[in-house]
Amino acid sequence: MNSLWNNDEATQYKDALALRVYTSRLLGQESALVLHGGGNTSVKRNTTNLFGENEELLYVKGSGWDLATIESAGFAPVKLDILKKMVQLPQLSDSEMVRVQRAAMTNPNAPNPSVEAILHAIIPFTYVDHTHADAVVTITNTKTGEERIRQIYGNRVLIVPYVMPGFILAKKIYEMTQDIDWTALEGMILMNHGVFTFADDAKTSYERMIQLVSEAENYLQAKNTHIVPSSNVVVKEDLLTLARIRKSVSEAKGFPMISQLDTNPKSASFAHLSHVASIATRGPLTPDHVIRTKPIPMIIGNNPEADIDNYTKAYCKYFERNTNDQLTRLNPTPCWAIWPEVGIISFGRSVKEAGIISDIKDHTVEAIQVAEMLGGWKALPESDIFDMEYWELEQAKLGKSSTSLALQGKIALVTGAASGIGRACVEALHAQGAAVIALDLNPAMTTLFDKKEILGVVCDVTIDENIKNSVEIAIRHFGGLDIVISNAGIFPPSETIADMNPKTWDDSIAINLTSHQRLLQACTPYLAVGIEPAIIMVASKNVAAPGPGASAYSVAKAGQTQLARVAALELGALGIRVNMVHPNAVFDTALWTTEILEKRAKHYGITVEEYKTNNILKTEVTSKDVAELACAMAGPLFAKTTGAQVPIDGGNERVI
Ligand SMILES: [Zn+2]
Repeated sequence: MNSLWNNDEATQYKDALALRVYTSRLLGQESALVLHGGGNTSVKRNTTNLFGENEELLYVKGSGWDLATIESAGFAPVKLDILKKMVQLPQLSDSEMVRVQRAAMTNPNAPNPSVEAILHAIIPFTYVDHTHADAVVTITNTKTGEERIRQIYGNRVLIVPYVMPGFILAKKIYEMTQDIDWTALEGMILMNHGVFTFADDAKTSYERMIQLVSEAENYLQAKNTHIVPSSNVVVKEDLLTLARIRKSVSEAKGFPMISQLDTNPKSASFAHLSHVASIATRGPLTPDHVIRTKPIPMIIGNNPEADIDNYTKAYCKYFERNTNDQLTRLNPTPCWAIWPEVGIISFGRSVKEAGIISDIKDHTVEAIQVAEMLGGWKALPESDIFDMEYWELEQAKLGKSSTSLALQGKIALVTGAASGIGRACVEALHAQGAAVIALDLNPAMTTLFDKKEILGVVCDVTIDENIKNSVEIAIRHFGGLDIVISNAGIFPPSETIADMNPKTWDDSIAINLTSHQRLLQACTPYLAVGIEPAIIMVASKNVAAPGPGASAYSVAKAGQTQLARVAALELGALGIRVNMVHPNAVFDTALWTTEILEKRAKHYGITVEEYKTNNILKTEVTSKDVAELACAMAGPLFAKTTGAQVPIDGGNERVI
C-alpha cells in the first residue's frame, strides 16, 4: 500500500483540522483500510473560548460520517479534560458515555462523537488514525494470529487483545499503557479489530498507518497467500431460482428485498470451493460488520425455502443462547447468501444497502481464503460477535421508525423509457423507492439515468431475443421482478385504410401490439415469483374513441387492451394483476413540438392553451400524471383490482 500524501496539496491546509480532513480522506480512499463508515480519526487542538480561557479540544470523527468524504463539520469538538476524566471511572455504560461526551462538546450542532473518542483522548499525540485494515485483521483472525503480529512488528506496536469497542476498550488500553513509553511505539494492533497510529503531525501519523499495513501486506505476500480468482469457473446460473430465493427472503424479512447476485470471478471462485459452507460460516471479518451482515451468511442448498427457514431457526437459537432477558431480537433472516457453484447474493432494502453488504462480503471472502492459507480462518467467539450485534447503542436505535417509501425494495421494468410517459414512469417508480430496469431503443439509455437504482438498457422490443436478454439482465442485477410497465409505442403517420402504406400498418402492429405480448411472455415466469406482482399496460383513449386516419394505431392499441384483459384472466391464478391506463392528449412528450401544437391549435381555430386543455375538466394531462397513476396501479391502492381500464384524459365525451 502506498502513501497518497502529496506535499503540494498538503501545504494548502494551514490549519490542523484542515490537515486532519485531508489525511482522513486519504485513508477513506482505500477500501482495504476502511469500508462504509468504518475507522475514525482525531486531532487535538488548543483553543481560546469566548471568555478568553484556554481550552484543549479533541476533534474526533462524528458518527454517521465516512472518512472518504468527511468535512471539518464531520468532526465533533469535545473537551479533552472531560474525556480523560471519564476513562478513570470504574465503569460506564456506552449510552451514558455517549450522553456525557455529547454534553462535553463545545458545538451542540456537531454530530455525536465516535464511540472511540475516549481512546483517542488518552493517546498523547496530536493526531490519531484508526482503520480496520484488511491485511492486519486477516492475520489476527488466524489460529496463531498474535504470534504472527509479534513476528511482524516486534515491540514497535502495542498488541491489544480483543474487547468490545467503546468504554471497555478505552479503559483496557488506559490500564495497559500506565507505565509505557508512548514515544517508543509506532502504533497499536487491536486483535480482530484494527490498527491505531499516532504522531504530533498529520503526515507521520498517516504514513505510519500505511507503513504498518504495508508490512502486514508484505508478510502475506511472502507467505504466498495471493488469491487468484479462477476466471474459468462454470457458473450454474439459474435466474428463476434466484427470483425464488429473493421472494422467500423478502417474505421472511417482511418486506421486498433487492438481491444482488455476484458471479464475478472472485465471488464465483469462492462459491465453488468444496469446503465453502464450512469456512464461510465461522464469523465476520471484524465485529462491526455484524450490524450489517449478521454473524454468518446463509448457505443455499437444493431447497431455498427450507434453507431460509433453517437459517432463521438457527439465528433464533443463537439469540436464545446469548441473550439476557432485556434484549430485543433483531430480524432473524439472512443478509447475504453463498450459492454454491454459482456466486454470492447480497440482500438489501435498497440497492445502496445491498451494495454495502456486497462490498463487505468481497473483503470478507478474500480475508477468509488468505487466513485459510495461513493455517486456518478463526473468527471471534460467538459471544463477542453477539455483544457487538446486540450492543446497547444499536438496541437503542430500534423502534425509531424509519419511514419507507411505497415501492421500497420493489423491482420494476419499463419499456419506452427514454422519454415521455415511459421516462416519467421510471422517475416516479424511483421516487417511490423501486429499483428500475429502463428499456428503450435509444442508444443513450445506458447513461440517461445517473443512478444506481436505475439500470438503463438498450432494447429493441420488436426483437424477441432483445426482450429476453433485457428481462434476464433485470433479474441478474436486482434479483427479481415485481412491476412491468409495458409502454413502448409509436404514433404512426395519419393514413386512411384505403391509402395505408403496409409498412405503417406492420410497424404499428409490431411495436404497439406484438412487442407487448412478447414482453408479457418473457416476464410472466419471474412475475409469478415476484412480490405482489403487477403489470400496467399503457394503452390509449383511441381504444374507446378511435379517430379517422388512425387505424394502424387504434387497432394495435385495441389489440393490446384485449391482450391485457386476457392476461388478467390467465395470470390472476398466479397472483399477477394486469391493469390498463388510457391516456389522451399528453403533450409534454418528444412527439409534440411547439410547432406541431401551434399547427394543430390553428387547425381547430383555438389557442394552444385551449387545445391542450380540450377536455371536460379543462385540464392539462402530463406524462407525470400518467406515471403517478401507473405507480398507484403497481401499489397497494390497486391490490384488489385486475383487468381494469382507467382513462387519464381530463374526461372525454366520446369515452364517457
Ligand atoms: Zn474500530
